[in-house]
Amino acid sequence: MLLTTTRTALRRTPIVAKVSPSSAGIRLAAARALSTAPRDFVKIVEVGPRDGLQNEKALLPAQVKIEFINRLSHTGLPVVEATSFVSPKWVPQMADAAKVLSGITRRSGVSYPVLTPNLKGFEAALACGAEEVAIFGAASEGFSQKNINCSIAESLKKFEDVCTRAKEEGVRVRGYVSVVLGCPYEGDVSPDKVAEVSKKLLDMGCYEISLGDTIGVGNPRKMSDMLERVKQVVPVEKLAVHCHDTYGQAVANILMAVQHGVRVVDSSVAGLGGCPYARGATGNVATEDVLYLLKGLGMETGVSLPEVIDVGNWISEKLGRANASRVANAMTRTPAKL
Ligand SMILES: [Zn+2]
Repeated sequence: MLLTTTRTALRRTPIVAKVSPSSAGIRLAAARALSTAPRDFVKIVEVGPRDGLQNEKALLPAQVKIEFINRLSHTGLPVVEATSFVSPKWVPQMADAAKVLSGITRRSGVSYPVLTPNLKGFEAALACGAEEVAIFGAASEGFSQKNINCSIAESLKKFEDVCTRAKEEGVRVRGYVSVVLGCPYEGDVSPDKVAEVSKKLLDMGCYEISLGDTIGVGNPRKMSDMLERVKQVVPVEKLAVHCHDTYGQAVANILMAVQHGVRVVDSSVAGLGGCPYARGATGNVATEDVLYLLKGLGMETGVSLPEVIDVGNWISEKLGRANASRVANAMTRTPAKL
């Protein structure tokens, strides 16, 4: 009963109470999104084993990564991004990609996408039984050059080859667009550019486009403006958001996205990823924090928060780092009362 009331209230209540000229756009967008939000189910895409671990300083043995993925699979998570088939020269943390993907116990109903930025990576992933892959484009030229050493256009060409092969093999492709709310080299990123790259990935055959605030500089207003634009060219059902928590805005940004009708959220257990010592290298929003938010909103995820907290504490110990999830820390100190 309580949940129903909350859901109804969420749909009907505009999130910005005071209307000033600057907030009118957000208010309108949010109100429109709330009234048309189609479903109360949110799919969580767990990216800890890939995005998280690849940005952690500590290197874990393949066996621990395999156990990590297997444990996550038992919490109700529908998607666990497993690893990345990239050159070990660039990402030494993922040098054991083949071993990890071949070693996991696949649970029915769970998908295990892997990152394959080029054909070589795709073929290697395919040989290990990958059924879903992800490609990774950027919405800023500066970031594309620094991160993957080629222009946006060149990267899209490589992805096209991957998509063509994937289609032949019946492998699903997920598309990432990074730096959608700001770039470390160029500053502001235009929503038009995000929309353009997203549409190209969609046209190539990506079944879902994950919009990444990969450096975590966004805020709800920027998120709203960007989604308004992208939704004009990509149906909202095909959009996901991927928020990093550098400025503590990730949960607020995800709330805005949910109010826009987005029903797929990427997150990383224990907020894995990034390094607290390096500026610019920052962690993903914690899965635990997203689950708590969504549960509070009366949304369904099918994921057990206490079980995810257990896995988050376990992997944090393996990495020798503190659990970065506020919710996990609060609920570990105080037994779960949800
Ligand atoms: Zn990320």
